[in-house]
Amino acid sequence: SAVVWMDRISAIKEMQSQSIEAFNAAITERSAGVLGQLEVITARTAWPIISQLSDHFFAERTAFIAEAAHVVPPIGAQGLNLSLGDIEALLDLAKAAPAQIGEADMLKRYHQARRPIAQSRVLGVGALNRASKAEGPIAAKARALGLDAIHRITPLRRQLMQLGLGIR
Ligand SMILES: Cc1cc2nc3c(=O)[nH]c(=O)nc-3n(C[C@H](O)[C@H](O)[C@H](O)COP(=O)(O)OP(=O)(O)OC[C@H]3O[C@@H](n4cnc5c(N)ncnc54)[C@H](O)[C@@H]3O)c2cc1C
Repeated sequence: SAVVWMDRISAIKEMQSQSIEAFNAAITERSAGVLGQLEVITARTAWPIISQLSDHFFAERTAFIAEAAHVVPPIGAQGLNLSLGDIEALLDLAKAAPAQIGEADMLKRYHQARRPIAQSRVLGVGALNRASKAEGPIAAKARALGLDAIHRITPLRRQLMQLGLGIR
């Protein structure tokens, strides 16, 4: 599995310049040791945590899929699932009318099927991202209450997991 550490740009830059040993100690401390001693086994990479949505999911004989069409912060594990959904939609359209592959009508249908879904994920995940970044005691309390509710209320937890898998 990969671990994503979200922080301010200055903190990320500082961590990237640390030695591997110091970084290993920092991630173990920050994760409160819940996974034991952590050690980096690949290169450290840094990504801006942003949301982006293309106005159009197609151009002439071209369909935009995955991050060419939408970018969401890695909260709720939506990016890849959303991308696989794009491919599935294109495959369904291609199977339904093989002679129309790449034609404007097919590409418009793809756009109409996928953009609203991507837009709702961009809005939802963007709100979660802002909630996770909000500072101050009230925001911290609201976050703790929300996480506690997800932990305690099984139907709510299941529903969120299904959302994360893209089932709902
Ligand atoms: C830190 C992080 C954590 C994430 N965690 C999750 C998660 O837990 N669950 C989830 O569902 N999604 C997650 N995502 C999102 C997921 O990784 C993306 O949605 C998915 O990889 C998008 O697929 P893609 O093919 O569009 O882009 P990519 O997977 O980025 O593939 C693009 C490829 O194109 C190559 N490339 C770029 N430019 C060129 C060029 N000029 N010529 C040739 N090749 C080129 C790149 O090297 C790359 O291999 C995460 C993303 C990030 C950044």
